[in-house]
Amino acid sequence: MNSDIGSDNGFEAVIGLEVHSQLLTRTKMFCSCPNVFGLKPNSAVCPTCLALPGALPVINFEGIKLAVKAALALNIGINKKSLFARKNYFYPDLPKGYQISQYLDPVSSGGHLMIKTEAGKDGLKEKKIRINRLHIEEDAGKLIHIGNLSYVDLNRAGTPLVEIVSEPDISSASEAVSYLKALREILVYLGVSDGNMEEGSFRCDANVSVRRKGDNTLGTRAEIKNVNSFKFVEKAIEYEIERQIGVILSGGKVIQETRLYDSKENLTRSMRGKEEAHDYRYFEEPDLPPLVLSEEFINEIKNSIIELPEAKRRRYVSEYKLSEYDAEVLTQDKDIAFYFEGLIDTAKGGNADGGGLEVKKLANWVINELLSELKAREGEGRSMIEKADFLELISAVESGTINRNTGKTVLAEMLSSGKKASGIIREKNLAQVSDDKGIEDALKQVLEENPKELSDLLAGKDKLFGFFVGEVMKKTKGRANPKKVNEILKKLTMEKKA
Ligand code: ADP
Ligand code: MG
Ligand code: ZN
Repeated sequence: MNSDIGSDNGFEAVIGLEVHSQLLTRTKMFCSCPNVFGLKPNSAVCPTCLALPGALPVINFEGIKLAVKAALALNIGINKKSLFARKNYFYPDLPKGYQISQYLDPVSSGGHLMIKTEAGKDGLKEKKIRINRLHIEEDAGKLIHIGNLSYVDLNRAGTPLVEIVSEPDISSASEAVSYLKALREILVYLGVSDGNMEEGSFRCDANVSVRRKGDNTLGTRAEIKNVNSFKFVEKAIEYEIERQIGVILSGGKVIQETRLYDSKENLTRSMRGKEEAHDYRYFEEPDLPPLVLSEEFINEIKNSIIELPEAKRRRYVSEYKLSEYDAEVLTQDKDIAFYFEGLIDTAKGGNADGGGLEVKKLANWVINELLSELKAREGEGRSMIEKADFLELISAVESGTINRNTGKTVLAEMLSSGKKASGIIREKNLAQVSDDKGIEDALKQVLEENPKELSDLLAGKDKLFGFFVGEVMKKTKGRANPKKVNEILKKLTMEKKA
């Protein structure tokens, strides 16, 4: 595909994203069925989510809390009074014939998210993407097509969603991905969503239009539905920008429509004409009261919001004096970030100087050793080691009880067996031989076993120094402290020369 198109032919892209994120509640948004992925089809359903006559919805308070939390973290203004509305459409996965959503009065509106961009011509690396609104709604069920037959699974019907709608402030496919990553990171950090794109709990509709540079009016947009990976979002938008430019350059007009991305062919295909709001015949949901939130409730949620990843990264650089790269790696996973911070606290406990272990050293251990061990064990279910035990291991290496390579082996063993470092070192006899007597004995043996090399060394063949050090390492199975071996060898040869 010609990636020049779109960059320098007088056009610019305008993109707005609608993100749907499922909420990590225990039960569905308007009934008490479990909100769990992967259950036996149609096993998590009840009269309410099946829309049996007479069944009424009840608002899930946990869902409201999570939605408000997300809105606050995304700098979106909370509306103390909001309304639920019926969005009417007919589809086999929607038993009621309407979806409960929010329309004119959403729970929150007017916010923004800062994203990282590649430095543009203005040299800026950060860009503010305005968020129009975040509202609460329920998900539909799922259609499954096998051969000529279609099946419907209604377990997902009624599960809680927030829809987050950006303003059309995004100008490229890579900015769109950057926005989605920042958004997903926050939702996952807060425990609002599991962010699982493969399972569809975090998915996005991309609205794309193009216009001639300098135009102030927006071009006609196409909406690409339900793209479920960062890579596909990027490719779908890139494709769509080029397609629309192509249409215009060949004298045609872009039509407003809904398109689907085909990842196998890497193209978008027209699915249907775009429906307008009036097609949905929105009206206020008569079965639910208005949602009224107190100042107190909002403040309580505000106070429960933990430090977000971007703030953590800035603090790691300013307070811990770590590099941006280190800060980035350490904060990618919330559990790791908190583990690392706990490690620092534990190291400091009792010792004002951090127990002699600098933060930078701890960061290196986590980044270089712990993370790679955890990565190698991915999928086995993470079993973390106690912070105090990890610190014991780090101290053992830093103080020279064991060398760095042995340290790595011990860490692996700790992770798989749950044993403490000291136990493993003792059991496997891994401690470095640093005591003079032990090394001297080994060295004397080696000298005795190699009389020819010894006399050459004494005659001035200094290269043999390395040979003897190597032999001692072999004899001690790598546990001798090489620095000590050097010192003692020097001392012994001096004596012999004298
Ligand atoms: P809907 O898609 O439900 O009709 P909206 O009209 O509110 O809802 O728009 C949805 C999304 O489309 C928003 O993210 C908005 O920024 C984006 N959008 C609207 N007009 C354009 C356009 N001309 N080009 C690109 N994105 C647009
Ligand atoms: Mg839309
Ligand atoms: Zn139900």
